[in-house]
Amino acid sequence: MKQKHVYSFGAGKAEGRGGQKALLGGKGAGLAEMTGIGLPVPAGFTITVDACAHFHAHGQQWPAGLEQEIRKHVKQLERTCRKRLGDAKDPLLVSVRSGAARSMPGMMETILNLGLSDASVEGLARVTDNPRFAWDSYRRFLQMYSTVVVGLNKEVLEGKLHALKQRLGAKLDVEIPADALRELCADFKSFFQQQAGGPFPQDPWEQLVGAINAVFNSWNAEKAATYRRVEKIADLSGTAVNVQQMVFGNTGDDSGTGVCFTRDPSVGTNEFYGELLINAQGEDVVAGIRTPLHLAELQSKMPQVYEQLEAVRAMLEIHYGDMQDLEFTVERGKLYMLQCRSGKRTPAAAFRIAVEQATQPLMGKAEAKARVKKGFLPKKYLEAASKPVISKDQAIARIAGEDIERLFSPVISARVSRDELTGRRLATGINAVPGAACGKVVFSAREAEELAADGVDVILVRKETSPEDVGGMQAAKGILTQTGGKTSHAAVVARGWGKCCIVGCQALDINFDSRQFSVNGAVVRAGDSVTLDGSTGEVYQGVLDLDRPEPPSEYFTLMKWADERRTLKVRANADTPDDARKALEMGAEGIGLCRTEHMFFATAERRLAMQEMIVADTQEARIRALDKLLPYQREDFIGLFEAMDGRPVTIRLLDPPLHEFLPKTRAQAQELSDATGVAVEDIERRAEQLHEANPMLGHRGCRLCITYPEILDTQARAIIEAACAVRQRGGAVTPEIMIPLTIDAKELRILADRTRQVAERVIAETGAKLKYLVGTMIETPRAALTAGDIALESEFFSFGTNDLTQMTMGLSRDDAGRFLPEYCDTARGGIFKADPFQTLDQDGVGRLVTQAITAGRRASPKLKIGICGEHGGDPASVKFCHAAGMDYVSCSPYRVPVARLAAAQAVIEADRRRAGTARAGSRAPGAGARKSRGADANSARRAKARTTPRRAVRTRAAKSAPGKKTKRRR
Ligand code: ADP
Ligand code: MG
Ligand code: MG
Repeated sequence: MKQKHVYSFGAGKAEGRGGQKALLGGKGAGLAEMTGIGLPVPAGFTITVDACAHFHAHGQQWPAGLEQEIRKHVKQLERTCRKRLGDAKDPLLVSVRSGAARSMPGMMETILNLGLSDASVEGLARVTDNPRFAWDSYRRFLQMYSTVVVGLNKEVLEGKLHALKQRLGAKLDVEIPADALRELCADFKSFFQQQAGGPFPQDPWEQLVGAINAVFNSWNAEKAATYRRVEKIADLSGTAVNVQQMVFGNTGDDSGTGVCFTRDPSVGTNEFYGELLINAQGEDVVAGIRTPLHLAELQSKMPQVYEQLEAVRAMLEIHYGDMQDLEFTVERGKLYMLQCRSGKRTPAAAFRIAVEQATQPLMGKAEAKARVKKGFLPKKYLEAASKPVISKDQAIARIAGEDIERLFSPVISARVSRDELTGRRLATGINAVPGAACGKVVFSAREAEELAADGVDVILVRKETSPEDVGGMQAAKGILTQTGGKTSHAAVVARGWGKCCIVGCQALDINFDSRQFSVNGAVVRAGDSVTLDGSTGEVYQGVLDLDRPEPPSEYFTLMKWADERRTLKVRANADTPDDARKALEMGAEGIGLCRTEHMFFATAERRLAMQEMIVADTQEARIRALDKLLPYQREDFIGLFEAMDGRPVTIRLLDPPLHEFLPKTRAQAQELSDATGVAVEDIERRAEQLHEANPMLGHRGCRLCITYPEILDTQARAIIEAACAVRQRGGAVTPEIMIPLTIDAKELRILADRTRQVAERVIAETGAKLKYLVGTMIETPRAALTAGDIALESEFFSFGTNDLTQMTMGLSRDDAGRFLPEYCDTARGGIFKADPFQTLDQDGVGRLVTQAITAGRRASPKLKIGICGEHGGDPASVKFCHAAGMDYVSCSPYRVPVARLAAAQAVIEADRRRAGTARAGSRAPGAGARKSRGADANSARRAKARTTPRRAVRTRAAKSAPGKKTKRRR
């Protein structure tokens, strides 16, 4: 069958569906879907993404048959609209709009009013009896076509418009009369002729072909490519093109154009929220050139339209089950919908919207009834309009890990006094995206990128932003613009990132040449610091203290739902009682990794004692030094245990190579010499001895305790003494002693045995009753490969996936940053989908992990298994850990909620897959069932644990490891 490249929509019928974003792009799919549910959408057709991909793959050639298809659809559109393209009496005009599968706001091109020519503009003027409107439309078309399709200089044409306004003393475009616009059009055309070497195309088909190709090409424009890079959009192959009948918001004061959100995208309140410009065409709003009116004013100005828009709001939220971002135009009092998509929102709004959509209806029953009665809302929406539109699971699935991280983005500290705020206030703009930021002022996106790359915090100050600026906007801590409203480019893009943004700060007088702005009498130069408060729109001079905010109550509600849903436990990596308290606050259920070495750097005394131990040349001297360290460690552990109040605390024995602790400078060596009496030369000699060519694979981890068992003795004693002390004070403790970098079962047995001997001795000495575990990290490939043997010596496994990734892939974590980006770059073939140090490499490292889990559990069914590498807080990796059957993940305190959420999503996704395969299973039973088990070992294991008596599990395990010694336990 011949491939179909064009899908029509209009007059209540659409060939496409909302689910076909990959084919029709988000905009095309939305237009089809809105048409299908009966909303007033101007008719048109969508040229598929595939056609665009073909165009780029074949030297800018259209696929075979595309031209005929388009010609056919133009005819069909002309029939639907009862007008002809280019007609000199009553012309059909169209827009040619870009739209990829994922929203790339303003990154690609759109051309409006196509079909106008010297002849048809006269016809339009006559038939509408509105020459000003006709010439305004032609002026816009000439301008857009010249710049977008032919690539003429935008500034020159803008300059001509600006000069005309000055000459006429007009402040706004709408004040320019028809005659002046007609002259401007003539001027634009002669500029075109002169620059392009030919007349402005008068044939509508030629115009259309040019516009379609320009939209295809805008896919590869630099700004679009940058946006995809910044947003990590790698899986799309092009943009669709939507050709759509024009409706006109610029015909007079009963017309206008607007953008709205079905709920407030800044805070998430269930309030219709939007802006519109009267007597304007679409791009005026989005470009943020004029400052628009609030939607509420539409209610008084055009009550019928407002009512209709309210009904659309309800229908679309019900239909999509999510907050929508809508574009609309009013032509002489009639509403048209031009776009819908899931709206970008701040993190706080994301939580509020998700929770309210899952628990409350959009409107009350009475309100819905009234709307139905007035005829605005179709009756079939009555029921749904007064019910929540999504389930709790959908609410959980909706939130992304980044939403949580951004939720904790900074605010100006409450410690900053009112007086100070008043004294430093420079100006107030429109509070587009909440959160606060401080940094040095820069005036160009490039400068922002350059300084940020050097680690400088910058605030990007622009008149307005344009898509070319996205790289710098991303790099900046905050964005400040002089013009624009809450739906301007700067606001929309920044909101998507949750990045502090203030727009429409009209008091700014920016001088880009001298790189400074003056504002209310003050002058701020490039490099000066300012602080932005995106929540209030205020701009302050200098650097103000920032605090992390309190999350909204909906955050806690949603996280509670997530906790009820997940089966994977979440612990935190925490080294101090403070970290531990923070971790608890973030919802951690234990500590999965306490790195003891951090304790040795805490004070000069401790560092000296540690160094003394290292430079000691006899065991007795080492033990003496270790004895000094013991009380510090014991105190630290008591603090940790008390903070965690009985929750498991995994403490790792000393891990880094010893030379990391040694003095780095002569002065430090002298200090150590003074403290220990060891000669400076001897200290330096010792440092030289300890030097390693490849320390990460050198004398570190448990190898240290094979050489110096007294280190293990001290640490084990400190841990168990601390635990016993807490027990004796009546507290609860669950210590887990963790041996790092194991490579062999026998190595581990020697160390674990010694640890248990020390522990038993301490327990006997103190007479406390204490349960503790001794286990190991699986972080070398050999440990993973011999996990079955190692499990017999270990009560738990904790996957140290940082080292495991490093050693499995042969990539140094410290050096690979230089070339890994190329491995992840899709333009270079995308060898890796993601940085393997951030997202676990499931195909390689992940396979070692799952094999080790299987072998470990076979040898020892009760083996407790977790992960403590960076991956424990990465959503995709957390989902992997769930599916692999781990008991817990452990990550930094701030990522604990991210992991809790991902763990819940893993369960929801597995359920959905199972439901899917169950349905598919009625067709192909074997395959579906096998796949579902493999996909989620954790659920399967838990299900089995519920149905299989414990003893049976144990027997089977014993049988499966014949001839092996049974597990060594105390
Ligand atoms: P973007 O993806 O940059 O938002 P759009 O294709 O949505 O670009 O076009 C920009 C604006 O042009 C829209 O907001 C809309 O107001 C206006 N527009 C596009 N098509 C039409 C049309 N057929 N009739 C009237 N206005 C239109
Ligand atoms: Mg749009
Ligand atoms: Mg390690």
